[in-house]
Amino acid sequence: MYLKVRVIENRSIGHPAQGIFRLVLSGQAAKIAKPGQFLHIQVSDTYDPLLRRPLSIAGIDKNKEEITIYYKLLGRGTDLLTHFKENDYLSIMGPLGSEFTVPQQGELLLIAGGIGIFPLYSLIQAIDQEKVKIHLLWGGENIDFLESADLKYLVNSGVNVKISTMDGSLGHKGLVTDLLQEMVQDSSMIALRCNNLVSAACGPKGMLKATAEICLNNDIPLEVSLEERMACGIGACLGCVCTVRGADGTVKRKRVCKEGPVFRAKEVVWDAEC
Ligand SMILES: Cc1cc2nc3c(=O)[nH]c(=O)nc-3n(C[C@H](O)[C@H](O)[C@H](O)COP(=O)(O)OP(=O)(O)OC[C@H]3O[C@@H](n4cnc5c(N)ncnc54)[C@H](O)[C@@H]3O)c2cc1C
Repeated sequence: MYLKVRVIENRSIGHPAQGIFRLVLSGQAAKIAKPGQFLHIQVSDTYDPLLRRPLSIAGIDKNKEEITIYYKLLGRGTDLLTHFKENDYLSIMGPLGSEFTVPQQGELLLIAGGIGIFPLYSLIQAIDQEKVKIHLLWGGENIDFLESADLKYLVNSGVNVKISTMDGSLGHKGLVTDLLQEMVQDSSMIALRCNNLVSAACGPKGMLKATAEICLNNDIPLEVSLEERMACGIGACLGCVCTVRGADGTVKRKRVCKEGPVFRAKEVVWDAEC
């Protein structure tokens, strides 16, 4: 569970002001990693800060035994992480958590808000695009953010991408859920649904809640990755619980780090006090 992994690359990508970094790690964790899972990373060589930081697995190369992660510089933990250099060793726990379902045929609709795109990268990578057509709706603050978070990778990946930005600097001006609403009202949606449409999303909680409402009202099965703040990462401290409702109507508390981060959207009780 605890592993020392070698840093292959750890550098700022895109516009420096956006603070997006790509971290490539070498280690056997890649052999068992699945899309949707995360690594819990010790961000310094000491126990200060005590808590590890959870970061999603964005790329898995089983042959080279490499895992790619993208992270946004936010606070002390991610700042410390930027100091690790090529050939340094990092202590990780993982891969941890539940995984996205990888469809084998049909249509896959992905909805990403901001840095919520990162776990979806590994799902895209796992899909056989000869058999599954991918449609991605991605919203961000502005074009600089989207470019920094590797828009070019998506454009080159063959995925059908629609973009929204809050300032209108690229694509639709407004929310990514506007694009989703527009899409479900479009007549081409009928064809997608006939071809086994499923969906997955990651982003801020408000965006996920709105996405879940639209998908579920339109009978589109949706999986969501919840990125609650978390502490231990192994289900012991209960710091990251969310509320879900089972098929029989009973309400339960589940740990995002252990039973999640990927949940079926229809189970999540969005307005519960976490
Ligand atoms: C399962 C999971 C997967 C994640 N994957 C990624 C990823 O692939 N790339 C990435 O950049 N980030 C990801 N995050 C968020 C990342 O863990 C936090 O941004 C990071 O821990 C912040 O640490 P820090 O010490 O730099 O910031 P802190 O000093 O701890 O916090 C700085 C600011 O960030 C906010 N913040 C911290 N954690 C979160 C969170 N989980 N959600 C929303 N706001 C938060 C705080 O409220 C505060 O405003 C993920 C989180 C989870 C739970």
